[in-house]
Amino acid sequence: VHTSDEINDLAQTINTMAEKLEKVEQERHHLEQVRNDFLANVSHELRTPLTAVQGFLEALQDGLVEEEEARQKYYAVMYSETMQINRLVDDLMDLMKLENNEVTLAKFPVDVKELLGKIAFSFHPEAEEKGIRMEVDVPDELPKIYADRDRVAQIIKNLVKNALKFTEEGEIRLSATAEEQYVRIRVTDTGVGISADDLNRIWERFFKVDRGRSKKNKGTGLGLAIVKELVELHDGKCSVESVPGEGSTFTVWLPTVAFYRPMT
Ligand code: ADP
Repeated sequence: VHTSDEINDLAQTINTMAEKLEKVEQERHHLEQVRNDFLANVSHELRTPLTAVQGFLEALQDGLVEEEEARQKYYAVMYSETMQINRLVDDLMDLMKLENNEVTLAKFPVDVKELLGKIAFSFHPEAEEKGIRMEVDVPDELPKIYADRDRVAQIIKNLVKNALKFTEEGEIRLSATAEEQYVRIRVTDTGVGISADDLNRIWERFFKVDRGRSKKNKGTGLGLAIVKELVELHDGKCSVESVPGEGSTFTVWLPTVAFYRPMT
């Protein structure tokens, strides 16, 4: 014989379990949704360039392109679409490894001034071609960061590539300054900018602001997702500010050497 208290307890326990089960089910449903969205995005991003290549190949095969000049154009488009597939696969692999904690950083003291200078220099020709100035603004006495140099270069390059893609005139400025235990690195452009609504979603994988941009602004929509993962792996943080029509500023904070305590 059970007392009514015992029965009440049991009923309570069953209720709690039912609630927990429902939460697990909701979570499972959510994960499934995320997975399906992801696969749909990957297929879409792959299908677009593949369909283009297929179409051009068929036209060439059927002898529909008679003039040599036109044929060369077809080859060029096919090449650039293939490169796009390559970029997508590379970015995907990189992001998957980051998300699965399979990336180990080789951390050493890194001179940010030197690194930003080199990166700016490497983008000079591209910027010049578009008539955009590249400026570097870093004080001499900046502390070194404790980071994986190649990965930091990847972060900054991703931001500069975007700045170049989405800026038609003006300048791109790379700056850095010490801020508490971090070095704050900024990439500022005078480009199209990002609306307040889009700003919230900018770090999501596959997110691209769709304004029917010209074909040459091809991206994978994974660049900023990779940036965020890499920054967080460094125990840093990142943020973005923008005024549509005026430009954007991406900021990354990375820990300085002084605050690194090796484990003993
Ligand atoms: P993508 O490969 O498309 O550049 P990202 O993840 O690097 O992918 O960027 C996502 C989207 O954020 C871009 O497609 C673009 O719409 C927007 N964006 C990123 N950087 C800038 C910028 N500097 N100015 C304006 N829009 C930007």
